[in-house]
Amino acid sequence: MGTEETNQAISVVATSILFGGLAIVQGLKSEPKPCPSCATSGGEACIFCNATGRRETPIEITKKDRRDDSVLGLTRRSPMECTGCKGAGMILCKTCKGSGYV
Ligand SMILES: [Zn+2]
Ligand SMILES: [Zn+2]
Repeated sequence: MGTEETNQAISVVATSILFGGLAIVQGLKSEPKPCPSCATSGGEACIFCNATGRRETPIEITKKDRRDDSVLGLTRRSPMECTGCKGAGMILCKTCKGSGYV
């Protein structure tokens, strides 16, 4: 009686290990799928800078703004840098985080 119960328990454990192992193998084997949101482009061209990553006109920093950390934080790297895409020229796809594949 006791032996039979032990055998059942072992077979349950063995089965779950087997299926768990298969799931891991399938996970490793599966190819990344093209992102349905951006069709592998990884994002969309930035509409704020026409995908150039740069503003047409530099951000004007007034004397008052120079003391304002939030304005300096935006323009510290470059006053010509697009604030919409942070100079990247494109807005990264939220679905695939810019990789183009999910
Ligand atoms: Zn931009
Ligand atoms: Zn995407």
